[in-house]
Amino acid sequence: MALSHNLGFPRIGRDRELKKALEAYWRGELSEVGLRSTGQQLRATHWQVQKEAGIDLLPVGDFAWYDQVLTHSLMFGVIPERFRPKSGKPTLETLFAMARGTVAAEHGSSCCGGAHAQEMTKWFDTNYHYLVPEFTRDQQFALSWEQLFEEVKEAIALGHNVKPVVIGPLTYLWLGKAKGEEFDRLELLESLLPVYGEVLQRLAGLGVEWVQIDEPILSLDLPQDWKNAFERAYNLLQRDPLKKLVATYFAGLEDNLGLAASLPVDGLHIDLVRAPEQFPGILDRLPAYKVLSLGIVNGRNVWRTDLNQALEILQQAQERLGDRLWVAPSCSLLHSPVDLGREDRLDEELKSWLAFAVQKCEEIAVLTLALNDPNNSQVQAALELSRSVQATRAASPRIHKPEVQARLAAVTARDSQRHSPFETRIKLQREHLQLPLFPTTTIGSFPQTSAIRLARQSFKAGKISEAEYTEAMYSEIRHAVEVQENLGLDVLVHGEAERNDMVEYFAEQLDGYAFTRFGWVQSYGSRCVKPAVIYGDLSRPKAMTVEWIRYAQGLTNKVMKGMLTGPVTMLMWSFPRDDISREQQARQLALAIRDEVVDLERAGIRIVQIDEAAFREGLPLRKAQWNNYLNWATEAFRLCASGVADETQIHTHMCYSEFNDVIESIAAMDADVITIETSRSDMELLDAFEAFDYPNEIGPGVYDIHSPRVPDTREMVQLLRKAARRIPAQRLWVNPDCGLKTRGWAETEAALVNMVVAAQTLRKEFA
Ligand code: GLN
Ligand code: ZN
Repeated sequence: MALSHNLGFPRIGRDRELKKALEAYWRGELSEVGLRSTGQQLRATHWQVQKEAGIDLLPVGDFAWYDQVLTHSLMFGVIPERFRPKSGKPTLETLFAMARGTVAAEHGSSCCGGAHAQEMTKWFDTNYHYLVPEFTRDQQFALSWEQLFEEVKEAIALGHNVKPVVIGPLTYLWLGKAKGEEFDRLELLESLLPVYGEVLQRLAGLGVEWVQIDEPILSLDLPQDWKNAFERAYNLLQRDPLKKLVATYFAGLEDNLGLAASLPVDGLHIDLVRAPEQFPGILDRLPAYKVLSLGIVNGRNVWRTDLNQALEILQQAQERLGDRLWVAPSCSLLHSPVDLGREDRLDEELKSWLAFAVQKCEEIAVLTLALNDPNNSQVQAALELSRSVQATRAASPRIHKPEVQARLAAVTARDSQRHSPFETRIKLQREHLQLPLFPTTTIGSFPQTSAIRLARQSFKAGKISEAEYTEAMYSEIRHAVEVQENLGLDVLVHGEAERNDMVEYFAEQLDGYAFTRFGWVQSYGSRCVKPAVIYGDLSRPKAMTVEWIRYAQGLTNKVMKGMLTGPVTMLMWSFPRDDISREQQARQLALAIRDEVVDLERAGIRIVQIDEAAFREGLPLRKAQWNNYLNWATEAFRLCASGVADETQIHTHMCYSEFNDVIESIAAMDADVITIETSRSDMELLDAFEAFDYPNEIGPGVYDIHSPRVPDTREMVQLLRKAARRIPAQRLWVNPDCGLKTRGWAETEAALVNMVVAAQTLRKEFA
């Protein structure tokens, strides 16, 4: 019999119960007992839902109070000195301190006795963020946290057939960072493994048969010593009890296939959604005793699986594997929304195309049933339904827009080229814009005050009219313009008061996007995002931002910058279609945004900024695929930016600090000006600009907007001097490192006053 299992279920709850409970607990409005009971109820509900869907083997250990990597750090006793309890075992308080810092740190610095939180970073190429383990050279490991065992007992007591999930030793070490003196994290492997041994012993004692050991780093380009360490580690773990399933996901195994297939464990899971080409080759590489788990249902998107197509692959696998075949989602369902059943306002047709975590479990179960009992009537009905869903979706006129396709087909290479090269453009732009040396500007948003949010809510709820709402926003714009004029900034912005979110705002105005009400996915801790769904060809029925920007420009003689979100970021922060490539979707978005850029120019706007905050995060996990991505991503950006005259200046903004490996592509985007985040890394990032002669203008962020701290002029002057040593002064801009929407007005004005003085100082020095 083939077996169905799940790699992990979303923990947040279909109504975000965990988020609400956590936040109430942090505010002191819910007791620890109350919080724990919410967690317990959620786990019980989630196991029950999966069992009812028909999953044979349920994951345990996928629940976390904040983050599963953090839970492992507690389990292994990897608790940085600053959080270590004076006596006794770590508590929930220890866990939340590691995740969020202690009081003084929450207010933005660690100067006053507070401990700063552990660093947080993206979990592979997802939008989930984990807490980076901190290792010291003399790191000791000791079993220090009972959560996994308690939850296994809990599930068994409820009568479930469970498979605990742990992060494998190599992935865990890989995800961490060496603190203090530099050393090789692999040196810690020998002392970490005995703790895994203890964990497996304890689980065996509870009557568990299988354990899932996640080693997603097997889908990365691994250095040779890490590959070697896999063999060493699993040879040692082999002595410990339990059947072990090593799980890999997010990309193909490629050069690690031989290694992964031959590890001395009892099963291997591979991701056939991200890397379908692994099949059927994998069947020849797998030792005859091993279970193969095929991740055939997409754990990272919202579309229904084509069951007939999936079944064909599974049947082929079954012929070779028999009972050794398991059916699974591609990765943990942590990355998909919880329950489509909760969506009461989606139209029925669109809804029939979608599957969230609960529905994905049903798909896995019915595929397994189809293998075990092909003539079962439920199976026949499901296959038939899937066939018809796929057919209607493929033929649906709401997906295929001939105008969009015709326009895309007519795009030529010229369309993604500005008329003249940068050197020509910049001369014209300088004449046209008449800006001083070291021009000052901001990244776009100004504080999103509670008054703004209230106005938006009232408008959405129908409590105020459109005219009243527009007037409220106009009044915010007037205020923003007045403040900027008083500050003496050179290039102004309208402040983005009317935008809830930089992607959603545009998605709501494009055809081809749909919105869920409850499609939340955990981003970190209690924070969730609700990405919009791209379901059809994308187009812009009418101008999206022109009226706001035109109004703002009308209030001032200074240059007003138009503000848009770029095609790559729109795509990365949405659920994309699965029936056409990401590249094609990016091109459709590019054409829609191009029209907006051209309309802004026509309305007299001389500078347009197109934000590409997510440009770098689109990079594939494997280096070999980088070029392909970078080519289409830069091309999409250029396509949206190249419809304007040479005099119109195009800016872009990116919010991260690792540029070295993509700097050439950033140059290839050919924006006239790029503003970037540098202040936190003390302009270190500009090293990239030293090694590579970046040709266009740059605004390296001179202060960190992520903290309410007001930087003084002196530090900004120093940063600018540092920048001017690497980049010619004529090409430097002066700006904060990101938008100001999360800040208050008082600190924003105070910081900008100092920033303007810093720019004036530099102007004198370079006059
Ligand atoms: N223009 C946006 C803002 O200022 C940019 C935000 C971002 O890149 N994350 O808010
Ligand atoms: Zn930013």
